[in-house]
Amino acid sequence: MTRPIRVEIDLSAIKHNYRQSRNKALGSLAYAVIKANAYGHGSLEVAQTLADEADGFAMLNLEDALALRKAGIRQPLTLLEGPFEKQETLLMAAHGIAGAIHSEHQLAWLADGHFKHGAFDAWLKVNSGMNRLGFQPRQVRLAAQQLRNMQDVTLSTVMTHFASADDERGVADQWQRFEPIARETGLPISAANSAAVFRYPHTHCERIRPGITLYGCSPFEGQTGRDLGLIPAMTLSADIIAVQHLQPGDNVGYGCCYTADKPIRLGIVACGYADGYPRSAPNGTPVSIGGVRSGTVGRVSMDMLAVDLTHIEHAGIGSRVVLWGAEVPLENVAASVGTIAYELMCGVTLRVPKLYR
Ligand SMILES: *Cc1c(COP(=O)(O)O)cnc(C)c1O
Repeated sequence: MTRPIRVEIDLSAIKHNYRQSRNKALGSLAYAVIKANAYGHGSLEVAQTLADEADGFAMLNLEDALALRKAGIRQPLTLLEGPFEKQETLLMAAHGIAGAIHSEHQLAWLADGHFKHGAFDAWLKVNSGMNRLGFQPRQVRLAAQQLRNMQDVTLSTVMTHFASADDERGVADQWQRFEPIARETGLPISAANSAAVFRYPHTHCERIRPGITLYGCSPFEGQTGRDLGLIPAMTLSADIIAVQHLQPGDNVGYGCCYTADKPIRLGIVACGYADGYPRSAPNGTPVSIGGVRSGTVGRVSMDMLAVDLTHIEHAGIGSRVVLWGAEVPLENVAASVGTIAYELMCGVTLRVPKLYR
């Protein structure tokens, strides 16, 4: 007896998408970004799928990186926010896990670290305008010098991150601030996220960091992954567990945010916001039932939502409703809801079983 909902992950699509992304930047090493449990796709499964071909992986948590090492992943691993406490620097060095060094306090940890089991691999992070992490461009020369003077620390890369590579602002301002100082260090450069990989070849340099495109979605508004030659990797679907016939004036769900103005037939679907389907989805958010387009009706509840079956006579109890996936681009659902594909793919909750194929 299982609740009829599942999220299917197409690992061969991720392989295809990795190649598509890497082929945009031939000559660069492509670090597959698998933070947030590989954007909800399962970081271990994704890493294992790409183990033969990825040049490296980037993530946030040491714990996740150690799990990959335990599972036999030998590729370079980089923690994008670096160590969160001093103790982590020792484990990172011991397991060959590189990390961004973005602030003075991390420099201090490294300066009195004693890395007996291998050097700490530092990626010096520059704040080129996003103002989250990184040294100011004018501080970079000194920080690089300090790192180079430390015993058992290897300064391998200089990096930055773009705030607007996906929109009309682009990367020009940040690139202008970053590039001269990055070049001056003489280090390999890593700057490009997915949007820059696809749109700004001059930022590719030595190491790219594609994330969202690996999972088959476009970082650009008004476009889907298909437009970039990508294949969506995630399909969220659930079955109809009840059918309701509404007459004009009848409501559905909490808050009566939908009132029928004609006779309609509704399917009640075993998916709600506790599964990660956004409660903010308005009436008419796209779904697909047996290949036929329909939309949500009324407010999404914790464990259920309603879809319109009026025009799909053959659909009933047990019919499968695709909430997003190949038939219903995640980007379109996100646009309906007023968010981005990233948030929806990361938001699928643990109670939804993952099926890999
Ligand atoms: C998340 C992240 C990426 C990947 O971004 P996408 O837009 O998913 O390609 C790259 N670099 C850093 C530092 C990140 O945090």
